[in-house]
Amino acid sequence: MNITRRGFFKLSGAAFAAGVLSDFVGQSTALAAETPLEWRLSDVMETPSICCYCSVGCGSILSVKDGELVNLEGDPDHPINRGSLCSKGSAQFNVRNVYDPESGDLILNPYRQTTVKYRAAGSSEWEEKDWDWAIMEIAKRVKKTRDESFETTDANGVTVNRTEAIGFLGGAALDDEECYVIQKLARALGVTFIEHQARI
Ligand code: SF4
Repeated sequence: MNITRRGFFKLSGAAFAAGVLSDFVGQSTALAAETPLEWRLSDVMETPSICCYCSVGCGSILSVKDGELVNLEGDPDHPINRGSLCSKGSAQFNVRNVYDPESGDLILNPYRQTTVKYRAAGSSEWEEKDWDWAIMEIAKRVKKTRDESFETTDANGVTVNRTEAIGFLGGAALDDEECYVIQKLARALGVTFIEHQARI
């Protein structure tokens, strides 16, 4: 039989459809009775959110069941991304949770960092510190740097009240209120180098 490439695809498509249909008709009742599939997204509470990674600001839908995040996907109603997420945005779910590849159970991501890691200048070792220590250390260093670098006037005698030895770097995970407070703090300290992670 002479058969063209297009004809071959048509024929195999029809054969496949017929096979699937006959399987489906023959087994659908049995499958429905024997496979009690539990949909991951049944009985979930959905909350719209914004991706934490960059300033594109894609919208996502978080699905929560029994107080635990069980799924995260792009929001089809969001005007920016219309349901799509880039690979980074798609991986937001794993910032907190992963599905165990062995058991399929939802577990906390074992690689998530939850403690302060400090590597002293010149050292190759990370030390574990507590949060109070970290906050005090940051405050001490900011004050020392500002005290040592603060200028009230520039080379022409113009009042500037600034430090050029400190920079502030914001991130897409910050919300409006956090950005407002950070800007207030930066300006009050006289910091002029204020940037956003997504522009770097
Ligand atoms: S990281 Fe990707 S998903 Fe997230 S806001 Fe940026 S482009 Fe969108």
